[in-house]
Amino acid sequence: MHELSLCRSLIATMERQLASMPEHAGRRVRVLKVNVGALSGCEPDLLAHLFPHASPGTRAEGAELEIEFQPAVVACDDCGCRHAVGANQLCCPACGSPRVALVAGDGVFLTGMSLCADPLNATELAHVQ
Ligand SMILES: [Zn+2]
Repeated sequence: MHELSLCRSLIATMERQLASMPEHAGRRVRVLKVNVGALSGCEPDLLAHLFPHASPGTRAEGAELEIEFQPAVVACDDCGCRHAVGANQLCCPACGSPRVALVAGDGVFLTGMSLCADPLNATELAHVQ
């Protein structure tokens, strides 16, 4: 059920962002873009599967969920480089130092959205799809 609550919180974030853009009032969302981190504990396939169950009644109803996978990335305190690493490899691949900080890959974020041209005009909706 973790993914279903994630879907709901992504939709809530989307609704908040739309509410802060009065020029888009009343428009519906066509595509929601989400970044899913390797260490987020979120299963992308499950997220995509559950999204249509979380969206009815929101402006994302019928929208497509576009998922981008984000590998875990560490920054090394010793040699200063940044590398994508495997989930069980939280040390620097360049110098082997364990003094690394996770800088990406531990969260699930809304990264963008595309809006339908006009929610009330079915012809236009068909045109943008
Ligand atoms: Zn290093």
